[in-house]
Amino acid sequence: MKVIINRNLCGHPPFACEKCFGEFLRTGAYPDRSCMLDVIDDGRPEVTAEITSGEYTRTLVVTDEIREQVIYDGYMKFTDFPFEASEIQPPDGNKIRKIIREYAASKTGP
Ligand SMILES: [Zn+2]
Repeated sequence: MKVIINRNLCGHPPFACEKCFGEFLRTGAYPDRSCMLDVIDDGRPEVTAEITSGEYTRTLVVTDEIREQVIYDGYMKFTDFPFEASEIQPPDGNKIRKIIREYAASKTGP
């Protein structure tokens, strides 16, 4: 399963986003949080998180070895985001619509 996370959609501090992704891993429930943009069934048993924060995107495969730590400590420590990636501002409506539009366009292809 692939989870698309775009932290620019919520502008929350990292721990808030990590916590809601942890809930998702723990319960399988899709939290009603704006930064979880999409969940795609890629036919794989493990969860792959594609995380965008600021201008940066990182991919994290949540293996069984790190799963518990990702749930309780968060995903940021398993990614090599630069410090400035955590310093994001809450988006306005236009920015949110733009991100969602661009994502939808990237999904359907050119
Ligand atoms: Zn968030």
